Amino acid sequence: MENRRQFIKNGLIFCLGTGAVVVATGRVHAFSSLDTGKWGMIIDTARCSGCQSCMVACKLQTHTVKNRFNTRITARETGTFPNTSLHFEADICRHCNPAPCVGACPTGAAFVHPTGIVLTDWQKCDGNGACIDACPYDARFHDQRFNNKTDKCDLCLDRINQGLVPACVENCSSNARIFGRLDRPEGEFAGYLSALSQSETTQSAVHVIKSGKGDSND
Ligand code: SF4
Ligand code: SF4
Ligand code: SF4
Repeated sequence: MENRRQFIKNGLIFCLGTGAVVVATGRVHAFSSLDTGKWGMIIDTARCSGCQSCMVACKLQTHTVKNRFNTRITARETGTFPNTSLHFEADICRHCNPAPCVGACPTGAAFVHPTGIVLTDWQKCDGNGACIDACPYDARFHDQRFNNKTDKCDLCLDRINQGLVPACVENCSSNARIFGRLDRPEGEFAGYLSALSQSETTQSAVHVIKSGKGDSND
């Protein structure tokens, strides 16, 4: 079994200009327990400044195909001039439980990792795209560079295994992305989780909320 990052690491030619893969960061967080935990992320769009550093950090980290991003930030203007306001919406794979993409995949390529993270085994993916059609969040896309195999956010499992938080979390200066262990929540992450209902916390590992009071946008 190889997820996308392992698939590429294990010998496929992956050319990216100068190949710089280092994500600039001012904050480094470390977790002691690796791989066996249940991981999750909360995005509080009320904190989001719309800087899109998360999108850039993810792009540098994952090298998604041109014009595709594992996470997206979109500005939305509401109201009527002059009484308008601007807010930001976040899109990302929710790592659903159960995951519609996993159920729809006819080759068994889409699967749930023991951490709860939904991944795609690129050795099994034939690019049929059933998972893309099944995803209610438009989180998956084809990678034309690799026979249309499907790609999406993997919650930076490689970084988690190195004791690092996901690149988008580390590079969010507004702290709008809060990461932690679902099975052993601590600190601010625990506070955010407690504001969600139990059904919400079991239905997915990633939540997009507004205001920090647990008002889920999902
Ligand atoms: S880095 Fe943080 S503040 Fe900036 S757009 Fe992404 S979520 Fe919003
Ligand atoms: S958001 Fe889409 S890609 Fe992610 S787990 Fe759910 S159905 Fe699958
Ligand atoms: S968790 Fe990793 S792969 Fe997912 S959006 Fe953030 S940086 Fe990209």
